[in-house]
Amino acid sequence: MGRRMTRGGMEISTVAVIGAGTMGAGIAQVCAQAGWRTHLHDAHPDGLAAGMERINAFWDKGIARGKTTEEQKATWSTHLHAVSDLGEAVATADLIVEAVPEIMDLKQSIFQQVEALVRPEAVMGTNTSSLSIGTIASVLKHPERLIGMHFFNPVPIMSLLEVVKHEGTSESTVALALDAGAAMGKTAILVNDVPGFATSRLGVVLGNEAIRMLADGVASAKDIDTAMTLGYRHPMGPLALTDLVGLDVRRDILLNLQASFNDDAYAPHPLLEALVAEGRLGKKTGMGIYDWSSGSPEPADLPDLT
Ligand code: NAD
Repeated sequence: MGRRMTRGGMEISTVAVIGAGTMGAGIAQVCAQAGWRTHLHDAHPDGLAAGMERINAFWDKGIARGKTTEEQKATWSTHLHAVSDLGEAVATADLIVEAVPEIMDLKQSIFQQVEALVRPEAVMGTNTSSLSIGTIASVLKHPERLIGMHFFNPVPIMSLLEVVKHEGTSESTVALALDAGAAMGKTAILVNDVPGFATSRLGVVLGNEAIRMLADGVASAKDIDTAMTLGYRHPMGPLALTDLVGLDVRRDILLNLQASFNDDAYAPHPLLEALVAEGRLGKKTGMGIYDWSSGSPEPADLPDLT
């Protein structure tokens, strides 16, 4: 089992991941692969089973493609444990990473419970993509131990980790989060606790502007996306990416930024609002800016805004 010294002089041998959904399962997977004893916890037994199954399936696919060996899978599997009791999951953990739904009250309540159950030196990370880390920490007795650890989907593939420190986060907590990210094979960036952090803020502004250009008739969706893929070497155009992330998710982030900065520059474009109102939420619903019914983005008629 991997024990690694971190810059802060703290060691990680056990990690607990709370929430076994899309993100939590991926985070638990990379923790197990990093060599740590990994406890994956979910409040719902079905969610926990599904998360474990997804990790297993990912490893099996790796074996089928020749990227993972049977030996690796066997080793990683011994590190990974489904733990249905929260106290048991976090009691021995050096690092706890929370990945439950994006609801402030829920995250605050989980960290209050976790704080009472963990060892005093344990560090607590939240995978929130938009909530204020300082506000989550404000309900804790030891806010210095909380930090944002914002992973990207799919976690085993995406190499970025956005580490977000609030005003009260301690230096040793920052050091442990950065070192944990490196041990998971991620490149970490360190960002202050401002709405949208570094990634979401730029991402949604680019997507919203691309939607404005589409509504203004500057070019077709495909051509706007091609402008950025070929002209700026983005791996994917801003409109296709908005469809992948989910139009509702991006609309909510824009509304959050608009309110937080009190700046209408972040207001969701009316076309984005109209698509969300029609239930065209992107790839997940089969329709967004593009028609995804064939599995790949095809041109689609857009709502009339007049
Ligand atoms: P998800 O809905 O796939 O998974 C959430 C999991 O949390 C579910 O399995 C659910 O059963 C579990 N859960 C709910 N209440 C719980 C509780 N009280 N205790 C323990 N488990 C509980 O959500 P997700 O997409 O994995 O998102 C999780 C977090 O990660 C959110 O904060 C989200 O904003 C953030 N995030 C998501 C993405 C993404 O692309 N999906 C990317 C970056 C960050």
